Amino acid sequence: MAHVINDECVSCGACAAACPVSAISEGDGKYVVDAATCIDCGACEGECPTGAIQAE
Ligand code: SF4
Repeated sequence: MAHVINDECVSCGACAAACPVSAISEGDGKYVVDAATCIDCGACEGECPTGAIQAE
């Protein structure tokens, strides 16, 4: 399992800075979580101003 970023993302980058394993990078129009790298810690969830990050 991994966290996912939905279309509410405004590409602010706050989540990427919070991720301890650098699983988040800027994608096409929104940031994306690399599911293979994510350890499901949840650190990014609280950083998102639009609530775009959820556990899947
Ligand atoms: Fe990174 Fe943790 Fe968010 Fe996964 S849940 S993307 S490891 S901050």
